Amino acid sequence: MGLVFEEYRTRRIVNVHKRVDPWFWDRYSATPYVGCRSGCEFCYLRGQRYLPSIDPDRFDTHIRVKINAVERLRRELPRLEKDTLYCGDWQQPAETRYGLSRQMLEVVLENGFPLVIIERSPLLERDVDLLVDIGRTSWVFVLISISSLDPQVKRAFEPRSPGLRRRLKMMEHLASRGIPVGVALMPVFPYISDDKASLRDVIRVARDHGASVILAGTLSMEGVQAQRTLRVVQRYWPHLETAWRDLYRWHQGKPAYAPPRTHTARLGRMVREICQEEGVKDRLPRYVVPGPRAWNKKLAEHFHLRAYALELAEAPPHRIWAYRKAAWSLDDYPGDVRQLYRDQGVRGLQSIPHIGVKLAREAANWLEESGGVKGIES
Ligand code: SF4
Repeated sequence: MGLVFEEYRTRRIVNVHKRVDPWFWDRYSATPYVGCRSGCEFCYLRGQRYLPSIDPDRFDTHIRVKINAVERLRRELPRLEKDTLYCGDWQQPAETRYGLSRQMLEVVLENGFPLVIIERSPLLERDVDLLVDIGRTSWVFVLISISSLDPQVKRAFEPRSPGLRRRLKMMEHLASRGIPVGVALMPVFPYISDDKASLRDVIRVARDHGASVILAGTLSMEGVQAQRTLRVVQRYWPHLETAWRDLYRWHQGKPAYAPPRTHTARLGRMVREICQEEGVKDRLPRYVVPGPRAWNKKLAEHFHLRAYALELAEAPPHRIWAYRKAAWSLDDYPGDVRQLYRDQGVRGLQSIPHIGVKLAREAANWLEESGGVKGIES
């Protein structure tokens, strides 16, 4: 089917998330194109959850272009509290024709917003000058998406995406220019690329090309995206079809959205162990914009990390959720958590929603140990 670009004017370009994402720490996201020529079979954007109004089978041939993306961004960013903006796969082939991503990066730079990028396309190298400047005036982190180093896996699941070697070279180039880089090892394919040796290969090669962070995630399955992904398994790894169906609890033609948490936790533990051995991080450190609420966000990061550690340990869900909700409350808290602690002690911390006595004590200890109460007026 031929490639169609449909231009339209969008009413809003920035999505403001209700919650900060604890993987990428983004509060905002924006994208100039809907649909992607790379057409990866597993692409979560083919699921109905994110883009319910598009035809998932035409996701790679019918690209919608927000022709006023740059002017909208220029208007919207100055009105928002400065926090991390996420952009993912902006540099797809549509960019060669429209050039909106580069202009949007210029607007991000003008407004001093921190930026996290997840990208498959080496076209990002074109914008290295802007990324360096964004890093100087605020913060930038680039995650290159790589699911596996096995060319057969790449050919099967993402036949039209840019080559793995080119992605690694791009990562090395960005790192050589002082841009912090990592790998989004997503999705990891069950029983295909989730064994220890394959994971270690990617992590080691990524580290040798400059990566300091590896974020690994499992595959989600939904609607047409799930059907297409399973078709790839049927064609290239037919002996794994039953195992995949079992893992995603396939029932009446539909899978569960995610594998069971035992599977996800096992993968997370394995990646954590390998990352420690290879000297890279398995979590992206949070960038916090300086200001009166900076320590709230740092403490929220601490609680999110605790929640993740409990996920890996397969702790009871109520314990994980306790940390998560406390972290969200801290992000929303309008005052300065250090001042609250200095003025009212542990009891004061308990006045923040979802922070009970145990978490308040933990927060107090963390603030003391991290130097958070130094320099605060009493
Ligand atoms: S490159 Fe990214 S956005 Fe494009 S199809 Fe692949 S996963 Fe989806």
